[in-house]
Amino acid sequence: MNTKKYRVGEGGKLKLSAFKTNETGKGSEAEALARIDARRPRLAALQERLYAEGQQSLLMVLQARDAGGKDGTVKHVMYGLNPQGVTVTSFKVPTPLELSHDFLWRVHAVAPAAGMMAVFNRSHYEDVLVTRVHGLIGEAEVKRRYEHIRAFEALLNGGHTRIVKLYLHVSKEEQKQRLQARLDDPEKRWKFNVGDLKERERWDDYTKAYEDTISATSSRTAPWYVIPADHKWFRNDLIGQILQDTLENMNPQFPEPDFDPRTVEIK
Ligand code: ATP
Ligand code: MG
Repeated sequence: MNTKKYRVGEGGKLKLSAFKTNETGKGSEAEALARIDARRPRLAALQERLYAEGQQSLLMVLQARDAGGKDGTVKHVMYGLNPQGVTVTSFKVPTPLELSHDFLWRVHAVAPAAGMMAVFNRSHYEDVLVTRVHGLIGEAEVKRRYEHIRAFEALLNGGHTRIVKLYLHVSKEEQKQRLQARLDDPEKRWKFNVGDLKERERWDDYTKAYEDTISATSSRTAPWYVIPADHKWFRNDLIGQILQDTLENMNPQFPEPDFDPRTVEIK
């Protein structure tokens, strides 16, 4: 599976309309599900090495509109990894304490330690998306925050952290169906949030905010990917492949012992 076409280059001007939301690739759903299953042991082995090596870390940022599939991605793509080596943080409306600090304070605190994989379900990108769409910050502040984000991600990169950022791209119609399902299905209703309808009314404002943000912050070392996400199986397959490619490229190694195992006798 070639993931390059979903990767956003540095310095370009992204148009989301150029990306399909309902792409299914060449194969069938059954083939994708088989690929996802076949990939799990390799992902688990790579994560084990990352943890054992204890030198590098991986940060996966998930951004999407409501019902875009962030929770489903965490559930399906992370399934089978060792929970001891993974942290998942869901970023909500900032608390008064968080608001009394700079916007990256709460984010830096949960960046992955060496050996760990961290998933951000929403992230510091909310601070240039929802805040901008609702007019909480002006355009000059948006630009300043892009600079801060680029510098922050470069700081993490310069340490031990690899960063992959995923925008789950769903159509307005698909969002409608998913919100409707949350309303209709008693087992999904707990996820229904009336406030999401207000955000949906600002669909086009969010589109522009995402386009500007992704264009301004995709880089070679912290790239954005636009993930066609109307079909959950395609989304899971593609993200699993991106995760595997990234970990293969990081190439974590089991550490060499600092003793000669042949000289140790266990009585
Ligand atoms: P779902 O996609 O399933 O609806 P969710 O991520 O929206 O899940 P919620 O608890 O419904 O989870 O919403 C979290 C809310 O917090 C979102 O509306 C998001 O925009 C908001 N939020 C997160 N970070 C910030 C921030 N820095 N500033 C303002 N609002 C934020
Ligand atoms: Mg929500």
